[in-house]
This record gives sequence, structure tokens and C-alpha cells, in this order.
Amino acid sequence: MSLRSRLSLLSVGLLLALLFASGIASYVALGTYQRINEAGALDRRYDTTLREFRITSTGLARPGVSGCAPSRTSPTRPFVNGRLNPVFAVGCVAPAFAGQGISSVVLGLDAGVLGCATVRAALNECVVGTSAYPTLPAGDYLAALRGNQRRYYLVGTGAEEQLVVLHRFPARGRAIALVQLSEGTQTLQQTQRSLLIVLAISSAALILVAAALTPVLVGRALRPLRRVTEASTALASGRLDHRVQEPATDDEVGRLSRAFNVMAAAVQRALHVREESEASMRTFVSDASHELRTPLTTLQGQLDVLGRGAAADPAELRTSLESMNREVSRMSALVEDLLTLTRLESPGATGRRDVVDMDGLVAETVDEQSVRSPAQAVAVTPAGRATAVVAGDRGQLRRVVLNLATNAVKYAPGGVHRWLTQVTHDEVVLSLSDDGPGISSDVLPRIFDRFYRGPQEAGRAPGSGLGLAIVRSIVEAHGGRVTVESGRGTTFRVHLPRLAQGGTD
Ligand code: ADP
Repeated sequence: MSLRSRLSLLSVGLLLALLFASGIASYVALGTYQRINEAGALDRRYDTTLREFRITSTGLARPGVSGCAPSRTSPTRPFVNGRLNPVFAVGCVAPAFAGQGISSVVLGLDAGVLGCATVRAALNECVVGTSAYPTLPAGDYLAALRGNQRRYYLVGTGAEEQLVVLHRFPARGRAIALVQLSEGTQTLQQTQRSLLIVLAISSAALILVAAALTPVLVGRALRPLRRVTEASTALASGRLDHRVQEPATDDEVGRLSRAFNVMAAAVQRALHVREESEASMRTFVSDASHELRTPLTTLQGQLDVLGRGAAADPAELRTSLESMNREVSRMSALVEDLLTLTRLESPGATGRRDVVDMDGLVAETVDEQSVRSPAQAVAVTPAGRATAVVAGDRGQLRRVVLNLATNAVKYAPGGVHRWLTQVTHDEVVLSLSDDGPGISSDVLPRIFDRFYRGPQEAGRAPGSGLGLAIVRSIVEAHGGRVTVESGRGTTFRVHLPRLAQGGTD
């Protein structure tokens, strides 16, 4: 079953249950309300009638009613031995409270019936216990005589049901009898039944409307979800640029659509990065193989020459051995550089965190350089006061300085090579400027690429094209960056995060 059908069924089912529960509650509440109302009407009738009784010198009297007329000669004396006279109860008290559809029963202090009356029945014809004169359990009467009566009582069921209220009948400051007023609840039941019919019809109509509209509305609400499903399918089938149309709302579905688009973009980016990295790996492997092939071919050639008898000639043998020696050195330098680059790209390449003073490092490297190329003039301007301090791998940082210095000697011999160390708030900036021919602007963006070599001068041994790539990898692995400016002469700048040292600033 689809989500739409399930949600629709659930909504309509819930509505049905709620309507049913509220119908029952309304039915019961209306019944109770009507009974309380009716009991109140009986109470008011009792109170109004009671006010018409008064105590006379001859007893209890109700003017205008013959059975109640006070008379010294009347046989119906209100009291006999201090109790309500049953004849008087039947002739005067009971008829006084009875009315259209309302019957009254007068009970003595022992809960025995003294008299009863209805408007229809003739006096003295009361048969207590019939539907006209309902009887409550004796316990209820005795409790009511003690003043513990309930708001109302119900006797009988269905068409025979009677609503009963009990009142203590007072005279001479005390209760001398109990008056029971009762009436049938048929009219109340009729009203309740009518309500039930109205509720049933209106509920059925509501359910029909809900059953027709809910699937449409649920379908509409689920439309964005359907779009997300379609987009997921498209993504799975390789259409990485497919996105969900985001609804303007900020509800769950809106958030899901946005989250999906963010995820799809991340997947697309990740795949793009992977493709790029695979492509660059392929280029790297092919370049590396190409670079290694050249010295190997030379070695092969020299070995062939030697094999054809050149080894017998000492001069040719020496030339071949020198050439082979050069190629082997070139190859080991290349392999060494490749290894360095590969290590730098693996995670945690710069695990070491030595405290390195860049001024000291430059001074050391320049000394080393002067041994190899004593004719080269070098000027060093340190930052001084031991402020150019960074945290990193000392050996790798030394390699950065050495590669830059070696390049300067190789590509910009003569003039002065100027080393300058500067510190800013959070960086150490090391620069090397030379007075060489400079690097042309079309070559400049590529000099940090692996295996890139600029135009080579005749007679100069070709480099591997990895020197600056290694410089960039090391600097970036230390959280820094390297820049180059070239015009008349070239300046390389290495920016490294400065190690803040308390009190050295
Ligand atoms: P390699 O020196 O092995 O060729 P590098 O990566 O060190 O490789 O340098 C790449 C290229 O950048 C060099 O071939 C050269 O053309 C250019 N280059 C580097 N340093 C300088 C410099 N100081 N002056 C002029 N050109 C330079």
C-alpha cells in the first residue's frame, strides 16, 4: 500500500474515531444536562408550592384547597400525635405538588408512603410502585430524610424511565415528611435520540468529504517527497547535476529537499575531486616513467657500446663509465625526489613539530651553498631577535631553502642573491630575490607543477622539474604558501605560520 493511501486511511480513520468519541460525549453530556435541568425545574416547582403552605393555629394549611382548609371541625387534621396525618397527606400535601406529568408521593419519617397524587389519577387511587409512582430503595429515602439526597434519581429503563427528586417537607421547624416528585424522561430521551441522528448524519457527511479530499491533499503534501525520490534515482543513475526543486517552506519536507541538494552537491564534488586526483595520478606516473626512461636508455646504450668492444679501449671505457655514473646519479636524485613528493602527500607528512628558527636555517644553507659555488654573492637580512620562528619538520624546511637557493644558482647566476626574513603578526615570510633573467609570464603559472621545466639553456644539465613542486608541497603541508614574482630578476616568497613565543616579540 502506498504511503499516500496509508496516510489517507489513517487520517480518515482518525477523523472517524474522533467524531465517534465526540458524538458519544455529546450524547452523554446532553442527557446529563437535560436531567439536571429537569431536576432543577422539579426543585423550583417544589419550592414555589412549599411557599404556599403555612402553619396555622390548627395546623398546616394551604388556602384555596378544600382538603387543606383549616377547621377545628375538619376530620382531616394535619397532625396526628405530632406526625403528618396520612389522610391530610393524601388530600392536601400530595395533590399540591403534583402537576401535568408530575406525580408526587409523600412519605413519613419511617419512609412509609403516606399518600400520593397525579393530575390524571383520582385522589386515593395511588398504587405506589407503578410507573406513575416510582419507588426508590428504602435506603435512599432514609438517607434523604437525614438530608443526604442526591441531585436526582433514575428509576426504570427505556419508555418507563422516571426522573425522581426528593425533598424534606418541613413544618414547625423540622422535617415531618419526605416529598418525592417524579416525571417520565421520554421527552428528554427523544431530544437525545434526535441529537444522535443529527450527529450520525453530519458525521457521515464529514467522513465522505474527508474520504474524497484527503487523498488529494495528502498527494499534494507528498509531492516534494516524490521529487526527492526521482532525484535520488537520477543521482544513482549517474546524473550528478540533477537537483530537487526546493519548496519555499521550512517544514520537514523542505528541509529534506535542501539536505538532499547539499548531499548531491557534496557527492558530485567528491567524485570530481576523485576524478581529478586519478587523472593527476595517471599524469604523475606517466611523467615519472618518462623521466626514468631517459637515463635508462642512456645506460642501455652505454652498455651496448661496451658490449661491442669499447671496454677494450681505456679512454672509451672511462667516457662510458663517466656517462653511466652521471645517469645513475640523475636517476637516484629523481627517485629520491619522487619518494619525497609521495611521502609529502601521505597523511601526517609533517608529523614532526620542531621549533625552527628560519634565520638560522637560512644562514646554515647559505654557508653550505658558498662551499659549492664560492663565486656567488649572497646577502642575508635576518628578521633578528629570534622572532622568525616556526613549528615544523626541520629537515623538510631546510629542503625548501636549499631548493630555492640551488635554483637561484642554476637559473640566475651572478649578481647578488638576497635572502630576507620578515615577521608579521602571524607569519614568517622568507624571500629570495635574484638578478637573473627572470621567468616569462606564460611559464610562470606552471613552474610549481611536477616535472615542469622551463626553457633549458644549452650546456646546462636538465633538472628533474620536481624542485619547486617539492617546495610547494612542503610549505603547504606546514600550513603555508609560496608565491613567485618575476620581471627583471625573480623573487620567491615562502609564507609560514609563525610560532608565537612568549616574550620574544
Ligand atoms: P628544475 O630546476 O629541476 O627544472 P624546478 O621545479 O626546480 O625544476 O624549477 C622549475 C622551473 O622553474 C625551472 O626549470 C626553471 O625554468 C624555473 N626556475 C626556477 N627557479 C628559477 C629562478 N630563480 N630563475 C629563473 N627560473 C627559475
